[in-house]
Amino acid sequence: MTNATVNLKTTNQAMPLVGLGTWKIPKDQTTEVVETSIRNGYRLLDCACDYGNEVEVGKGIKAAIDSGVVKREEVFVTSKLWNTFHAKEHVRPALEKTLKDLDLKYLDLYLIHFPISLKYVDFETRYPPEWLYNPETDKLPTYVDVSIRETWEAMEELVDAGLVKNIGVANFNCSSLMDLLKYARIKPAVNQVEIHPYLPQDVLVEFCHRKDIALTAYSSFGSISYLSLFDGAKSVPSLLEDKIIQNIAKKYSKTPAQVLLRWSLERQIAVIPKSSNEDRLKQNIDLDFKLSEEDMNEIKKLNKNIRFNDPGTYFDCPIFG
Ligand code: NAD
Repeated sequence: MTNATVNLKTTNQAMPLVGLGTWKIPKDQTTEVVETSIRNGYRLLDCACDYGNEVEVGKGIKAAIDSGVVKREEVFVTSKLWNTFHAKEHVRPALEKTLKDLDLKYLDLYLIHFPISLKYVDFETRYPPEWLYNPETDKLPTYVDVSIRETWEAMEELVDAGLVKNIGVANFNCSSLMDLLKYARIKPAVNQVEIHPYLPQDVLVEFCHRKDIALTAYSSFGSISYLSLFDGAKSVPSLLEDKIIQNIAKKYSKTPAQVLLRWSLERQIAVIPKSSNEDRLKQNIDLDFKLSEEDMNEIKKLNKNIRFNDPGTYFDCPIFG
């Protein structure tokens, strides 16, 4: 079982390099999956308001704590501020809602989910609010003029209040980070972005490491989570079935999934694979092997600069452009 960690800037807190992603875990399975993952050694849970299952994640954490498997302080819990809560008056209530749902007193890490500010939707109207202000009629989200600076300063106040230990961002490119670093009183501890061999993000990875911003890779297996979301994902060959990945997997007697996760760990990037299946959960945290330089170079050849999670494609909002 892999229990490697990375120390986060500012607090020096250790963040596990392998965790469980909770996007798309069906609500009726989430509590059990979370508890099972903790029993199998997972010590990082990646959650978000937008995933709509924080109540069930909270119950899974509680079950693991109540049965004596872990103490609260041994589990690193991440959640994310949704786009509709960016205005300074909405940031703390959004975090408090997430804490109430997760049944926790504090988060280890709170991320700005996207550098995109959308019109506020109150908790009673719809939660999670998702992208469209009026899902019945709207084709595109309703953008609002809230700066990242306003949101970040409100995030810093959450640290001051002892409600979150670390703050960070997701889906930020180098120029958004450069701007944020100019005024941040508390520097971002983590940037969580899409990274896999089709999108290795070498420049962003090098920049974040130079600035002591830890990286977490999401969608390590490539297109798989996006097949049901947009047709373009279907035209890209599956990374799990790629010949180079499969041959390397054979060589180490590992699965293609393990090779893809280990590839990120070799680059000092945390991973948060999602699975509801116990065998796969075990596999995805069993990453104590090393890929040779030769194999890392082979995987480098797979770069296609293909991004699956791109609001520029879905919503005319090209944040990575
Ligand atoms: P992922 O790359 O973890 O892929 C999940 C898919 O792979 C599932 O269909 C699962 O059944 C399958 N799978 C899991 N383990 C496997 C194995 N060992 N062998 C074969 N198939 C396996 O995809 P993801 O859910 O897109 O990303 C992981 C997590 O990252 C999410 O759950 C979420 O927590 C986070 N995330 C964050 C953002 C963001 O904007 N910050 C965006 C996407 C995902």
